[in-house]
Amino acid sequence: MTKRQEQILEIVRREGPITGERIAERLHLTRATLRPDLTVLTMAGFLDARPRVGYFYVGKPMGEVIADQLRNMKVKDYKSVPVVVSEATSVYDAIVTMFLEDVGTLFVVRDQAVLAGVVSRKDLLKVAIGAQDVREVPVGLAMTRMPNIIVVTPEENVYEAARKLIDYQIDALPVVRVMDAHSKQLEVVGRFTKTTIARIFVELGSGRDI
Ligand code: ADP
Repeated sequence: MTKRQEQILEIVRREGPITGERIAERLHLTRATLRPDLTVLTMAGFLDARPRVGYFYVGKPMGEVIADQLRNMKVKDYKSVPVVVSEATSVYDAIVTMFLEDVGTLFVVRDQAVLAGVVSRKDLLKVAIGAQDVREVPVGLAMTRMPNIIVVTPEENVYEAARKLIDYQIDALPVVRVMDAHSKQLEVVGRFTKTTIARIFVELGSGRDI
């Protein structure tokens, strides 16, 4: 929005309903100069106009209110606890962990928390329907490996995180912290999934705070 459009909104919010002529006067502009701005603001849903009454303030369009809200919500406030295994964990044990922890994605780590990869349900199913023994094959062979992992940081907002899940067609993102800039190693500090998005959506819909 331009500075002038913001000024117009402010005037209409304070003084509306107000005619176009009056707004022009207040800004020391001609009505013709102002017309494109009034059209933009009306079409965007910020203002409404009634004949012989003038412009009045409607507020932000719904889509924008929702977008603002999502952009103000940080991943760190909505993330869940990550469920991790080591690369040497067998596919069998990884499947058991998925059942016990009730998750669809496991993060594979080195040294307790350093992100090495991600293993999904279908990664494990692939091994399970193959000829290999699920008790013998380590998840390290089934997982998607760094540096091909899509991650999110605690400071990113939930819209950015949801965007990544959709754009890359994946179910879960490891929430990570850069351990030190030099090694580029990432510490897994959380989990952000499609279920997280569904929970946020339901809570927003119910009008309650999450
Ligand atoms: P599923 O395979 O069970 O449908 P996903 O859609 O999440 O689950 O995974 C699809 C593929 O993408 C799998 O091979 C998985 O290893 C990989 N994957 C999952 N999450 C990520 C991620 N955050 N970054 C990179 N690859 C991922």
